[in-house]
Amino acid sequence: VKGRTALIAGNWKMNLDHLQAVAFVQKLHWALKDVKHDFDSVDVTVFPPFTDLRSVQTLLDADKIPFGLGAQDLSVHDSGAYTGEVSGAFLKKLDVSSVIIGHSERREYHAEGDDVVAAKVQAALRNGLVPVICVGETSEDLEKFGASAVPVGQLEKALEGVPAGAEIVVAYEPVWAIGSGQAATPEQAQEVCQKLRGVVIDKLGEAVGATTRVLYGGSVKSSNIASFLREPDVDGALVGGASLKVDEFASIIRYQK
Ligand code: PEP
Repeated sequence: VKGRTALIAGNWKMNLDHLQAVAFVQKLHWALKDVKHDFDSVDVTVFPPFTDLRSVQTLLDADKIPFGLGAQDLSVHDSGAYTGEVSGAFLKKLDVSSVIIGHSERREYHAEGDDVVAAKVQAALRNGLVPVICVGETSEDLEKFGASAVPVGQLEKALEGVPAGAEIVVAYEPVWAIGSGQAATPEQAQEVCQKLRGVVIDKLGEAVGATTRVLYGGSVKSSNIASFLREPDVDGALVGGASLKVDEFASIIRYQK
């Protein structure tokens, strides 16, 4: 519709072990096959925990399931003495295509600031992964600065040093809307997503700005997805809780119907 294929991204967070993950992907694929869903009109990417990636990748490959595979985080380093870290190079070897960076839970519980986020964006691009850059304001930010100032500032910092022409995805996720059941309105999402696209245009050029997908995330469900996707600058959704329920996630993916 907008020249940008919609992207529905499922962030499983720390849910589903590798056996549950395989069963889930099989059921989801079946739920979508059943309605003969046209995968030309929507891209679906799942973001399982690291320990599931190999199993899910094997299943997607073996059964020719047209879902993208993403990771929830990566190291700023490519290899070396960094106990517990997982590098972008390793993810790429596993056919991972994209990686969530700067999720509010990483920013809050792992003290990841804008510098770390920017370094992770560089690590992703260096390894041929598409960074899904998450930005968003807390409710305190919203009260003090309005909706767009904080996410715009976060994105500007994340894109520092990113070469013109780089492929990225941006996710606007108001922190107050994540897991709260209280989604932003489509109008609020559009207003901020439009400004975020403006940042991409400023930093990476018109052409990249026109093709970059800007997602909305925060309490997306099957009953509100269509209202977000109708907005001109909202190109998809990053879905948390609702991506863990097969029928609900399948309904979100079939939002056009
Ligand atoms: C998220 O954590 O990225 C998210 C959007 O969560 P939820 O859909 O559960 O609000």
